[in-house]
Amino acid sequence: MRAWSVRRPGPARGWPMVLERRPVPTPAADELLVRVRACGVCRTDLHVAEGDLPVHRPGVVPGHEAVGEVVALGSAVTGFAPGDRVGIAWLRGTCGECRYCLTGRENLCPYSVYTGWDDDGGYAEFTTVPAEFAYHLPEGYPDEKLAPLLCAGIIGYRALRRTELPRGGRLGIYGFGASAHLTAQVALATGALVHVFTRSPRARELALELGAASAGPPTGRPPEPLDAAILFAPAGELVPPALAALDWGGVLVVAGIHLTDIARLNYQRHLYGERTVRSVTANTREDGQEFLRLAARHPLQVHTTAYDLGAADHALADLAGDRVTGAAVLVAG
Ligand SMILES: [Zn+2]
Ligand SMILES: [Zn+2]
Repeated sequence: MRAWSVRRPGPARGWPMVLERRPVPTPAADELLVRVRACGVCRTDLHVAEGDLPVHRPGVVPGHEAVGEVVALGSAVTGFAPGDRVGIAWLRGTCGECRYCLTGRENLCPYSVYTGWDDDGGYAEFTTVPAEFAYHLPEGYPDEKLAPLLCAGIIGYRALRRTELPRGGRLGIYGFGASAHLTAQVALATGALVHVFTRSPRARELALELGAASAGPPTGRPPEPLDAAILFAPAGELVPPALAALDWGGVLVVAGIHLTDIARLNYQRHLYGERTVRSVTANTREDGQEFLRLAARHPLQVHTTAYDLGAADHALADLAGDRVTGAAVLVAG
């Protein structure tokens, strides 16, 4: 099969991935073998390829938003059959025994492992996944539109929940890529008022089309104080303006796995008035199942740009260069 491998992590413009021929993997007893039909290109893949995240598996195949068809099952698998359409996401293993796993917070498990970082992911023609961590997928979406739901959608959903936005509340969204454009729709569907801050004029247009109340540049002031904000851009310099835009008691949630250094905060201007900063760390399987049920009930407009599997390096370079509107998705040839 064809598979992309991160040979030497480095800047995307230096082409850190190579396309290789590898044997089709054999599923372990608890795993599914999946023929990949689409795989989203997430900013975390860029962090893996560029070396912002430490190497966990040399030569790893990136990709943790894979949609495909089950073609074989390990001997111990139940609940799946050949031909099922399944989703493969970032979280692919937890210990099940630690204080986090035992209290509904498996996203914090110190022994957790991740697709496309600790184990090979979806930038390939075939991949495997532990059945316990695979998702059944909603009807009504083509493969290409489902792929971004599996990380961009799920993480955005968790970030939105962590804002504790009141019903009808005012939400700021900083950065408007794959995750943000889905999260905005979920927030709007529950009655929120959404203000978007992004440097991309095309993304601002998309935000307004989807129903945002306003869309402006990232360091601008919102037309009204915000009850909550989510920072999707991996830019620590946006933390102070996002905090300054909050109403007293407001919550800022940082959604990314990686953020550049946070610019200096001023206690009076940025935190006083019981404003809060929170992070999001991966997601639980329950988050994923809840979000996919929501996506089945409220059809989401998923904006994608398709690339052939063979052009994954170009997709990553385009993401690095802010040239993708919506979500980049690799599709099987
Ligand atoms: Zn655990
Ligand atoms: Zn991701």
